[in-house]
Parts: sequence; C-alpha cells; structure tokens
Amino acid sequence: MPSSDSGTIHIIGAGLAGLAAAVRLSGGGRKIVLYEATDHAGGRCRTYYDDLTDMLIDNGTHLVLSGNYAARAFLRTIGTEGRLHGPRDARYPFVDLATKKRWKLNFGSGFFPWWIFKKGDRVPETRTGDYLSLARLAWAPTDRALGETMSGAGMVYQRLISPFFLAALNIEPLKGSTKLVAAVIRETIAKGGRAARPLIAQEGIGKVFIDPAVKYLRKRGISIVYKCELVAMRLAKTHVAELKFSDRTVALGVHDSVILAVPAYAATRLLPELRTPSLFCPIVNVHFRANAPKSFPPMLGVINGLSQWIFSTTGKISVTISDAERATKMPRDDLARKIWQEVAALAKLPAKLPPWQIVRERRATFAATPEENAKRPGAETRWTNLFLAGDWTATGLPATLEGAIRSGNRAADLVSRNRRAAA
Ligand SMILES: Cc1cc2nc3c(=O)[nH]c(=O)nc-3n(C[C@H](O)[C@H](O)[C@H](O)COP(=O)(O)OP(=O)(O)OC[C@H]3O[C@@H](n4cnc5c(N)ncnc54)[C@H](O)[C@@H]3O)c2cc1C
Repeated sequence: MPSSDSGTIHIIGAGLAGLAAAVRLSGGGRKIVLYEATDHAGGRCRTYYDDLTDMLIDNGTHLVLSGNYAARAFLRTIGTEGRLHGPRDARYPFVDLATKKRWKLNFGSGFFPWWIFKKGDRVPETRTGDYLSLARLAWAPTDRALGETMSGAGMVYQRLISPFFLAALNIEPLKGSTKLVAAVIRETIAKGGRAARPLIAQEGIGKVFIDPAVKYLRKRGISIVYKCELVAMRLAKTHVAELKFSDRTVALGVHDSVILAVPAYAATRLLPELRTPSLFCPIVNVHFRANAPKSFPPMLGVINGLSQWIFSTTGKISVTISDAERATKMPRDDLARKIWQEVAALAKLPAKLPPWQIVRERRATFAATPEENAKRPGAETRWTNLFLAGDWTATGLPATLEGAIRSGNRAADLVSRNRRAAA
C-alpha cells in the first residue's frame, strides 16, 4: 500500500504514454492517479464498436515492428505480447497499381540484413549497391529533409523508402527528417528481419494495448478518473503547486509529482512557454465489412494507388492512407467508392460497395520534418515536479506507439529518480 507521506503521482492523459508511465510506476509504493479528459483510455490508439458496419474497428490499423522493444516489453508486462500476430519472416507483399506488378520484400528472420544481397528478397530491379544510400542515411550526422540527401528517383526509393517511411513518419518521406528515418532504419531493417517483422493486433489495438493496461492498473489499485480535463496549472517558481481540472482542484504536496502525457497542442495550452511541434499530419482509415479470399495476404503494400496499405482479417478489410491531406478533402462516399474499387480489383471481390466506415484523424501525428522534430522538448521541465511524456516529446523516434511508450517510461524513471534524490 502507498504510504501517506510518499506523495502522489498525478498522470494527465490516459493515452499510451500516460498508461505506460503508470504501468512502469505501479508497484513502486506511491499513490498514482490518472486523469483523462474523455470517457475512455487510449487517446489516438483505440478500438470501438461502429454502428454503420456493425463491427469493432480501430481508429487506425496500428502496425508494430518486432524491433519495437519497448512496446513489446509493455505488452509482456500487461500479459498480451502473444496477442500480436505476424509472419515468422519479415515478408512484405507489394503490388504496383500502375504496372500491376507484384513482388515480396523479404527481410528474412535473422540478425543481419542479408536481404540486400539476395536478388529474390530485395526490391525487384535493384542491385546491392543501390542500398548504400540507406546505409549512409542511417548514420547521417545532421538533420535535414530527406529530399536534400536523395532524389526520390529509382526503385529503392519508390518501392521501399517511400512506402515504409510514409507509413513510419506519416509524411511524404522527401519532406521528412533524415534523423527520424535513420532511427527507424537503425532499429529495424538494418538489424535484419528479426527486428522488421510486421506485428498487428488483429482483434483490435485497444483490445491488446489499452483495455489490458487499464485492467492491469485497476488490479494494482490505480484508477483512471475519466471526463476530467486538466484546464490549468498553478505554477510556482520551482514547481507546480496546483492542478485545476474541469471539475476539481488538486493542491500538490511537497512529494507529489505530475506527468503531463497529453498531445502537444494540449500541452502548449497548459504551458504556453513550452516549445513543441505545432504542425500535424492526418491519417485516414477506411474499413469495409467484407471477407478477402484466403489467398489474399493479411497485409499488402500498394504503390501508385490511393490505398497505401491494405489489411485483411476475418470479416474486415481496412485500408490506411498516411499523410492523407488529399483523402481528408474528398467527399466520404467518393473516397469509400474509390478505395473499394482498388480493393475489389486486387482481391477479386464484387464491385458492389459493402458496409464501410471512414475514420479521419486530422492531427494523427506531428509533421515529421526536421524543423518540427527540432521543436520536441525533453521529459524534464524547469519545474522540479513536472515531467512530460507523449509521442511528440524528444524520443528520437517518429510519433509511434514505440515512441509514446518510451516517453512514458522515461518520465516514470525521472519521477522515481527525483523521489530517490529527495528522500
Ligand atoms: C490513425 C492513426 C494511425 C496510427 N498508426 C500507427 C501505427 O501503425 N504504428 C504506430 O506505432 N503508431 C501509429 N500511430 C501513432 C500512435 O497512435 C500514437 O503515437 C500514440 O497513440 C500516441 O500516444 P500518446 O499517449 O503520446 O498520445 P495520445 O494518444 O494523444 O494520448 C493523450 C491523452 O491525453 C488526453 N488529454 C488531452 N488533453 C487532456 C487534458 N487537458 N486533461 C486530461 N487529459 C487530456 C487525451 O484525451 C488522450 O487520451 C497512429 C496514430 C493514428 C491517429
């Protein structure tokens, strides 16, 4: 049981960063309370029942890579790592809608990127030497836009860099930060297929990441206060003195700590002097109630289409579009019809549109440009009891589940260290 004088840890925001911080701190002997503005946990990572399709859908199909060690450790702790599914080898089937050509990129299953040397595994019509640009990128010393270091021409760009880094950075890769691209390369494909296997929570991202985390915390006596938005903080010179929520005010004791795990735009409202990324990119997901034939892959990369990745599972086909400015402007019916045309042609399904739903997340991630990346603050602030978490803080990674979890872990470790130093 928490002792009465060990202080309370107030975690603001029950997205993955806040949940990860709470899970990390649970069992440490201090009282922990999570406050969440909405009526559910998960933030940008959630599963819910959709009336129109009569299905459970995710706000976005979330892909995790086997090299995402913090995400996997988080799942191991809450007992759901085994509920992520993916192929044994890091195989990615692709189709080019312009040429109708199909191929499989196979990063293998080992520790070394042997795939670069195997004609049948790497991108068709490329040679080993074509991948030198990737190796150079992985250890680029300064940050600039990828377009300043490569042209965007050639098969390695079109069939590997463009689809993978559009998905990982959620921005047209030539505008993206080389440092963020490099971090993803170093942690995944540079380590061979072992770190590049695609893993998906087929039953729903919320079912694997969020609900079990909430249950894990509840079992340890940690509650989430829903519909409780932090609207202001009273800041003393050296510390946060008071938290003002929509329905209550909490005065902070000398041993209390605060982890602010809200999105960047919410953090700047609360702390106007904070410098954070301020540009965001949308992601659009289109879900269809339909069964793909057995021969259709669970995950298919699409080049030269409106669709970018197609995910199929029993009874459901979902399409993801990253950096989806154009798709957010299209009338919903048009978008659903156009995407279904592509899916139906590829999966050999009837042209008649099945029940569908579109989820547009306008501020899905911060814009992963070098300029926005440079604005990401670290977890520590000038207030000794206030720490920041969230995928937009300086994790060194793009805005991802892995980044959000690492940020929560880091904030939790700083709170623990702070407490030890004060003891
Ligand atoms: C459509 C989509 C697809 C994605 N696909 C992938 C993917 O394939 N792979 C991947 O790794 N990542 C993906 N991501 C990114 C991933 O979802 C995010 O990086 C991650 O969920 C961010 O978690 P977070 O805790 O940092 O922020 P959030 O999830 O935004 O959580 C912040 C929480 O704080 C709450 N809050 C806000 N203000 C307040 C306040 N004042 N008081 C109290 N609470 C407040 C919010 O309601 C929210 O619950 C995707 C994101 C989207 C939107």
